[in-house]
Amino acid sequence: MTGRLVGGLEAGGTKFVCAAGSGRDVVAEARFATTTPAETLARAVEFFARQPLLAAVGIASFGPIDIDPRSPTFGFITTTPKPGWAHTDVVGPLRRALGVPIAFDTDVNCAALGEHRWGAARDVASVVYVTVGTGIGGGAIVNGRPVHGLVHPEMGHVHIPHDAKADPFEGACPHHGDCWEGLASAPAIAARWGQPPETLPDAHPAWDLEARYLALGIANVILTLSPERVVLGGGVMARTGLLERVRGSVADLLGDYVRAAPIVAPALGERSGVLGALALAHDFAHG
Ligand code: ZN
Repeated sequence: MTGRLVGGLEAGGTKFVCAAGSGRDVVAEARFATTTPAETLARAVEFFARQPLLAAVGIASFGPIDIDPRSPTFGFITTTPKPGWAHTDVVGPLRRALGVPIAFDTDVNCAALGEHRWGAARDVASVVYVTVGTGIGGGAIVNGRPVHGLVHPEMGHVHIPHDAKADPFEGACPHHGDCWEGLASAPAIAARWGQPPETLPDAHPAWDLEARYLALGIANVILTLSPERVVLGGGVMARTGLLERVRGSVADLLGDYVRAAPIVAPALGERSGVLGALALAHDFAHG
């Protein structure tokens, strides 16, 4: 017999959000800071063990992660620069402690799934979700399913044109320097201008450059995957007017060549990830 409820875990680099629910109705929820893997995963286990029998738990994890079920390191966070978390088994401890099926995907694939199931992309078959915050990440849903490949999409690390004369900042990505994330994440903005993005006024030139960089990456994603909708979330996107500037710049870049997907804010706000984890668990348990 399987439970009626499923569990969802948004495993983020700064906080974990745990939920139990049915559909998008959450009946229990907990959130706590991401500390060491042992301590943080133990708190997640404790939350799910308190719930009635769960049919499955879905995990929406920061990454990169191993999502290949045939791999000996399936369920691991792999090469993250986050101290203490590289090569951490996330699925194993939950599966062993809870004895329920565990579904595992990226935080951004789950956010895309959440928005597809219940949010800003309910009415379309394909959507890309991009978050702009401490990093840039992108997830994609095609025909209702998260897109996987050899690993999973890593849209935040594509390269975009970088005019070093206009913007001499060398980039903040520890792996690639001036990739998309290296030029346009919150830490990149902070390093370029010497102050955190939330303290920069709306009229600061930082925002024109940011809109341009975000548009360059999104135009590439649109041309590659042809999504019917692009959902653009994350803390940096809270800036007034930025979404509109990105839309305008994407339209300029694409010209009249293709019809581009509408670019919208997440309808689920900051809950796309954890609700997407519930959707992932539901799909895993019920096919
Ligand atoms: Zn990179």
